[in-house]
Amino acid sequence: MLTIKRVATVVSNYQEEGGEKDNAAVAVEGEAKGCGRNCLGKCCLPASDLPLYTFKVAGEDCAEESIFYQKPPETSFLLNLLLGQWENRMNRGLFRYDVTTCKTKIIPGGYSFIVQLNEGRHLKKRPTEFRVDQVLQDFDEKKFNFTKVGQEEVLFMFEQSDDCYSHFFPSAPAIFKPTSPNVVAINVVKLLQVSPIEYGHVLLIARVLDCLPQRIDHMSFFLALSLAKEAADRFSRMGYNSLGTFATINHLHFQAYYLASPFPVEKVPTLRVMTSTSMQRYAVVVSQLLKFPVRSLVFEGGDTLWDLSSAVANSCILLQHNNIPFNILIADCGKRVFLFPQCYAEKQARGEVSQELLETQVNPAVWEIGGHIVLKRREDFEKASRTVSTRLIVEVSLSEESCREVKAQISEAAGLHEIDTEAHNLHQSEEVVSTSSDATATSHLHQDCLVVKGKA
Ligand SMILES: [Zn+2]
Repeated sequence: MLTIKRVATVVSNYQEEGGEKDNAAVAVEGEAKGCGRNCLGKCCLPASDLPLYTFKVAGEDCAEESIFYQKPPETSFLLNLLLGQWENRMNRGLFRYDVTTCKTKIIPGGYSFIVQLNEGRHLKKRPTEFRVDQVLQDFDEKKFNFTKVGQEEVLFMFEQSDDCYSHFFPSAPAIFKPTSPNVVAINVVKLLQVSPIEYGHVLLIARVLDCLPQRIDHMSFFLALSLAKEAADRFSRMGYNSLGTFATINHLHFQAYYLASPFPVEKVPTLRVMTSTSMQRYAVVVSQLLKFPVRSLVFEGGDTLWDLSSAVANSCILLQHNNIPFNILIADCGKRVFLFPQCYAEKQARGEVSQELLETQVNPAVWEIGGHIVLKRREDFEKASRTVSTRLIVEVSLSEESCREVKAQISEAAGLHEIDTEAHNLHQSEEVVSTSSDATATSHLHQDCLVVKGKA
């Protein structure tokens, strides 16, 4: 059994029910401007300076080797910055609860699901404030959104560099042309409700003041992939939940956190099913997971990050258009993107999810589907087994037939052509791409994320 020492719960200081700060330990630096709460809204952000990280992007003047073949640097400035700033917020008391020990175990055999017990979150379940049967919904400024977050929760702004290098500026004006800033902030789990709370759990909020609804477009997805690439650590993952898959805030955001263990889904062998048809030197390749409870597609390759990003974004836009909810897991420093179209909410609405599973109150979203499952009841944790975990996430999977249809639509939308898998199955041993790695790279473990083997 593993024990991971971690922060139990992160609560945004401005997101108490009354919208009032109640944590006297919070130290807000500098004078509050605008509305007096120093928030990310129109009242305060335009007059503010915040730390700024700019990332390099391949273009006409900046050559980029296919990221598929690039080796990440040994240490990432961005990841150190992110984790350092995250710890700084913890030390300043912005997280409402102390660091505690939380039980996590890896279920032996099969997929090696990582199961975490997260009981005692004495938080009221906040009802979802919008329809769960529509993937696309308009932004509603009357409902909770991230412009209400305090600036002390922001770790840095994340923007494209104007040259071929990445840069960090400890303080820079929040510039609004052509778009408002992208911000990386500590997460606001109280409202998200769906997330396991892990070391370095943050949100990437795209163009915060433009008030975009939760929907993927080309620029926002490219931004998320760029953050994963700059973090340059395979244990740093990013995730996205569309509306209808337990995203509870309709304001465009991605999540990220650091877990020093491979996600079960990352170890599953895959079979190539589609490839890009353009003139790229390195094709974008889409594979299907073999032997995993949830049917999904894995995107890899491309000459540039934009090639990969574009193929995924086109696919997501199609799913959104067809009102198919989905989750995305970005792994392997932005080199692999798992796309999980899902139907749990629909099944739940039709009364097709078993009472036993409903009672666990686990909403299978991106982290759960990836194989990192947070259980709320001790009894579920104690008896967690491979079968129970599989049953939980298998519920989200589309049927084989629906998945085949989705694949055909994606192939068209993303300009990919399908590979004859019948023929490929004959050569399966050559075509299966396995990224299996059972070894836990303990050198990557952060000191606050200690994995202690052998003890409960
Ligand atoms: Zn304000």
